Amino acid sequence: MLNSPVLTLNSGMIPIDICNVKEAIVLQILDKAEAVKVDDQQHIRSQYLTLPLPRVIMLFNFHRIPRKKVVYSRLNIIYRDDMRCQYCGKRFKMDELTVDHVIPLSRWHSMSTHHRPESPNSWENQVCACKRCNTIKGNKLIRECGFSLLRKPVEPKYMPYLIISRDKADRYGWLEFLNYNVRVVEAIDTGPSF
Ligand SMILES: [Zn+2]
Repeated sequence: MLNSPVLTLNSGMIPIDICNVKEAIVLQILDKAEAVKVDDQQHIRSQYLTLPLPRVIMLFNFHRIPRKKVVYSRLNIIYRDDMRCQYCGKRFKMDELTVDHVIPLSRWHSMSTHHRPESPNSWENQVCACKRCNTIKGNKLIRECGFSLLRKPVEPKYMPYLIISRDKADRYGWLEFLNYNVRVVEAIDTGPSF
């Protein structure tokens, strides 16, 4: 029970982290946070106090929204593109998505440096694509297969800070507290990398 996750909000009620019950209790005892949602059915008991199990806490005197630099990864390219194939424009489930090189690796050196990004494996040359579009595209350039890009791929300036699975948000009653800096996903395929 002490390891159960607790959603941590800043003083402006924006979710910024997930801690565990043990850490949440310490923050409450030190008067650095208060519980804004508890599970009344369960209690933490010690020699000195009894507290209802915290599910969501709010920090006092902490107004910032910490940001981490977005790590360049396959998963984050898919998240940047909102799980939407950048060629056909449809959204897919994670296991139906791939990451495609806009300029294929096999064509990279035949392109003049003016017409290509700095690196083939980069935010600027990789996009989320469904398996079907990826197969059609193969080693072609987008104009050779009549494709166009939904939007120009760039390094994300802003990404949500927290990724939380819907299952977890449901189970711990967090949904009402989630805000613009949280992305709720159906399932977390690999560990969150940003
Ligand atoms: Zn597609």
